[in-house]
Amino acid sequence: MAIVVQKYGGSSVGDAEKIKNVARRIAKAKGEGNEVVAVVSAMGDTTDELVELAYSVTDQPSEREFDVLLSTGEIVSSTLLAMALRAMGYEAISLSGAQAGIRTDAAYSRARIVGVDPERIVKELDKGRIVIVAGFQGVTEEEMDTTTLGRGGSDTTAVALAVSLGAEVCQIYTDVEGVYTADPRLVPEAKKLDEIGYEEMLELASYGAKVMHPRAVELGELFNMPIMVASSFTDSPGTLIHGGEAMEVRNKVTSIAHDLDVAKITMVGVPDRPGIAAAVFEPLAKANISIDTIVQNASIKNITDLTFTVAKSQLGKAMEVVKPIARSIGAADCSSDAGMGKVSIIGTGMQNTPGFAARMFSALSEKGINIQLISTSEIRITCIIDEDRVKDAVKALHRAFELEE
Ligand code: ADP
Ligand code: ASP
Ligand code: MG
Repeated sequence: MAIVVQKYGGSSVGDAEKIKNVARRIAKAKGEGNEVVAVVSAMGDTTDELVELAYSVTDQPSEREFDVLLSTGEIVSSTLLAMALRAMGYEAISLSGAQAGIRTDAAYSRARIVGVDPERIVKELDKGRIVIVAGFQGVTEEEMDTTTLGRGGSDTTAVALAVSLGAEVCQIYTDVEGVYTADPRLVPEAKKLDEIGYEEMLELASYGAKVMHPRAVELGELFNMPIMVASSFTDSPGTLIHGGEAMEVRNKVTSIAHDLDVAKITMVGVPDRPGIAAAVFEPLAKANISIDTIVQNASIKNITDLTFTVAKSQLGKAMEVVKPIARSIGAADCSSDAGMGKVSIIGTGMQNTPGFAARMFSALSEKGINIQLISTSEIRITCIIDEDRVKDAVKALHRAFELEE
């Protein structure tokens, strides 16, 4: 019997009716003669509500308690789904991340999976049961404390289980029909892709396309596990994320990503001498603040400006760290702007081909959109712009690179 690993996201299990719909889809896979393991996210906006609850009690929730609290969302959905399946006459059992053998490090809120012990899952499958696993969570090896894998992390649970159970493909069911040339909620003309390589998908996910958790894509690539992204509401074929050699390398942009969670910090009048960057970024790293784009201007009379971006939620903490440093190194000023966004064009076809950046910049300038910072990889160009121009920018780029065709 083949093992099928499916994952259903929050909007796919948003209410009782939707949970029953998912139960029917799982039952169908079981009826086709498969052993089925289904990973679920928390219902609808549950995780957001739990975060809000924590912050309504305290400004600085304990990291440990915070993760236990957030993990309960997936416990609710997994138990309800198991109940729905049982009501339909199927043997089903729900397992928490710990029971499913998901072992992680102790980095609360962004724990990494260090190993999976699938014995319990296998035992239940051997009994003929359907196994429902609470996504997004694991357990530390030392203290057996509950951890969470970072927002969107149920995708990563699913890929890790698909790998450790030896599934042929990991099926991710969500509220859109696959991976599109841009977020279909922003660009109605966006086209669904039939396939996409791991590398492009990883850039897309890392630069804001919520449809896949970046670490799930990373895991897929590492273990060569194909990932099928499809709708939980229709039977349309989805998008296959894979590393197959048949991938056509086109001289083309594949997709546009955007991200509204961007804040900018600028230090002006920074002395330009060795050790300054380290003096700024080491304390930020120690405070667990992830820095994204960094730009340092050419210096005039040994004085330069330093600009970098962080997630909006980390801006307050980052400014607390940076302000005293700015003073101690003698910078003239240190300011921040929380109203930024990011647009990126992504495509392996851009590699070693000139002209993409120029086309991107002119498409933005035609719309009067000011580019504040630019960063690139071999297969991506990202512009940091005002948050309220992101929607226009994505639409303009989608048209400029002829993605609706
Ligand atoms: P789930 O709850 O199933 O995990 P998410 O909300 O995390 O779903 O991700 C799905 C959402 O990702 C879609 O509703 C869509 O708005 C967004 N999205 C952003 N970029 C893309 C893209 N390029 N292709 C498909 N969906 C995208
Ligand atoms: N429920 C978690 C979140 O909202 C994990 C997930 O949905 O994958 O981020
Ligand atoms: Mg998700």
